[in-house]
Amino acid sequence: MKVVLKDLTKIFPSRDKKDKTEVVAVDNFNIEIPDGKLVGLLGPSGCGKSTALNLICGLEVPTKGKIFFGDEDVTNLPPEERGVGMVFQNYALFPHMTVEKNIMFPLENFKGDKKLTKEEMKAKALEAASLVQIEGLMARKPKEMSGGQQQRVAIARALVKRPKILLLDEPLSNLDARLRLQTREEIRRIQRETGITTIFVTHDQEEAMSISDLIVVMKSGVIHQVGKPQEVYDKPVNLFVAKFLGTPAINVFTGRIKNRRLYIGEADVMDVSDRVTDPSDERDVFVGIRPEGFVLDENGPLECRLDRVEVMGRDISVVSFHDAATEAETVCVRSIISAENQVDTSKETVRFALKPAKVHVFDAVSEEVI
Ligand code: ADP
Ligand code: MG
Repeated sequence: MKVVLKDLTKIFPSRDKKDKTEVVAVDNFNIEIPDGKLVGLLGPSGCGKSTALNLICGLEVPTKGKIFFGDEDVTNLPPEERGVGMVFQNYALFPHMTVEKNIMFPLENFKGDKKLTKEEMKAKALEAASLVQIEGLMARKPKEMSGGQQQRVAIARALVKRPKILLLDEPLSNLDARLRLQTREEIRRIQRETGITTIFVTHDQEEAMSISDLIVVMKSGVIHQVGKPQEVYDKPVNLFVAKFLGTPAINVFTGRIKNRRLYIGEADVMDVSDRVTDPSDERDVFVGIRPEGFVLDENGPLECRLDRVEVMGRDISVVSFHDAATEAETVCVRSIISAENQVDTSKETVRFALKPAKVHVFDAVSEEVI
């Protein structure tokens, strides 16, 4: 089932008694989420991810705009009539109920001719439990299970009504690192097996990139970019998106465009005539260089002060400094190059050539890509 959001907006009144400024948690979302895909809603904490999800499932009422499931306008439908399954960060299981009872719970409210017998409910609960591979734990109580198992129960409970849309709000953030990896693979598998359109909220770019068909990058209630993970990584539309995706993070320098060439400090680092058509276009820019965009080259145009070389097995990371690097917290330049390279660590400086496709140039004022 595809999901279409039209001008969707949610404004909250201020929580602060002194400061009456409203919060625009979701600002004019226009997006079509294709049928059967797993979409990652990605952005820093407080950017409106949960609010967007709550609007889609019906827990919040929009200030403006509409929500469609397929061709049906569901904006005014209560949550229970939308056919959505929702999983929250903190599992929200009933502690006094067994796993089986927890999973069956959403089926208990069916009325009239939809009402199910105990046997039918048990069969459906078992089916959902099998999908998340906890069918052997049906008699346990939540506190007798690990965090990963509890989250599987929550997912089974969301799946038991065979929802048209599955909504997951930071479902992995309470799990330790190993379980997080395992459970995210599991979510991907379940999504593939069931084909349920799934919206997955996270602030973790790696998590979103690794399992999503499509990612939606947002900040302060605004959608900045929608695309396949690789596309968004390779072609960020602005500095925020470039900085938000990728580990180690992109290296950002202040620079200048002059005569269709790119300068970092005094150094003329590359031709940008593919991006700047007007030779008289001269302006300050931010230059984002992915760690894999550096090539060790004695005659390369970018000279950095060498700090250290970190060995990572297949690759090495050359850590250096440059006065035009902007990130106050890191100030170092992190480049990742193949371990086959030798870096002369007795030298004070290291020179790089750049891979043009890994260099992103942003207007210094608008921060939009050039
Ligand atoms: P995220 O899930 O991305 O961390 P949220 O959707 O929870 O972000 O919140 C987005 C913004 O809306 C935040 O500034 C938050 O403080 C505000 N907000 C969320 N819910 C409410 C509410 N019920 N009342 C007032 N402000 C809210
Ligand atoms: Mg949230």
